[in-house]
Amino acid sequence: MTQNPEKNWFGNRSVSPDEKTGLVRGVFDSVAERYDLMNDLMSMGVHRKWKADFIRMIRPKPGLNYLDVAGGTGDIAFKIKKKIDKKTEATPNAPPTQITLLDLTYDMLSVGRDRAMDLGHGNDFNWICGNAETLPLHDNSQDVYTISFGLRNVTHIDTALAEAYRVLKPGGRFYCLEFSHVNVPVIDKIYNVYSDTLIPRLGEKVAQDRESYQYLVESIRKFPTQSQLLKRMQKIGFKHTNVENFTFGVVAVHRGIKP
Ligand code: SAM
Repeated sequence: MTQNPEKNWFGNRSVSPDEKTGLVRGVFDSVAERYDLMNDLMSMGVHRKWKADFIRMIRPKPGLNYLDVAGGTGDIAFKIKKKIDKKTEATPNAPPTQITLLDLTYDMLSVGRDRAMDLGHGNDFNWICGNAETLPLHDNSQDVYTISFGLRNVTHIDTALAEAYRVLKPGGRFYCLEFSHVNVPVIDKIYNVYSDTLIPRLGEKVAQDRESYQYLVESIRKFPTQSQLLKRMQKIGFKHTNVENFTFGVVAVHRGIKP
């Protein structure tokens, strides 16, 4: 059964909500330097395809305010920028775009900033170290809110959803890419074996950090199912909500619009 992850769960361990936020920060502090390499190894590169498909669904265009929450080392924000740059070349008078990247963990943002510098884009993003549950942004200020592989780590999911709703403009779009629940029993079995054995072992060998990767596996299991998350978005007030599974539901994209 899927348990409510923000109710005192850190992986399989029962903790207080405050403790959970601190432990999650500790996990990502610890994995920051190896995060990108580990993503490639754990997903055998498939996370790149999921993220590319996610960006295609967003259809970025110039002149909007984009907010990438739990932005980590910058994958989603950089991809949004790349698409917008291409469109801006074709339409030189396009209005300015703002891309804000927010993350709880300073070390993840720091790796992201270094990557942006290497790409020559260090000053093209607003960088905020903050919590998805208390966004330091004005009401009705953002056109597009994205959160990729972030929501399952947030202590109070409904609070983060309400914050997304608050900062979006009327007509603003919400997109969440997250690990979800496999909908084909045979594949689910294979995936469980893979998660229980290979991921913690890779964490141990490559990142010298078995515990953090064990947490990642357990956090996926505790995350709400596709339909549960959809209902929670609707309760917050999102309209035109829908969910699309990638790779048999290993990950899913939840979408909604603030009316
Ligand atoms: N979005 C990036 C990606 O798709 O590669 C990074 C995802 S990484 C698995 C999860 C990120 O969520 C980490 O960088 C972590 O610091 C961040 N995070 C966890 N809890 C958060 C919170 N409450 N508010 C903001 N960011 C949070």
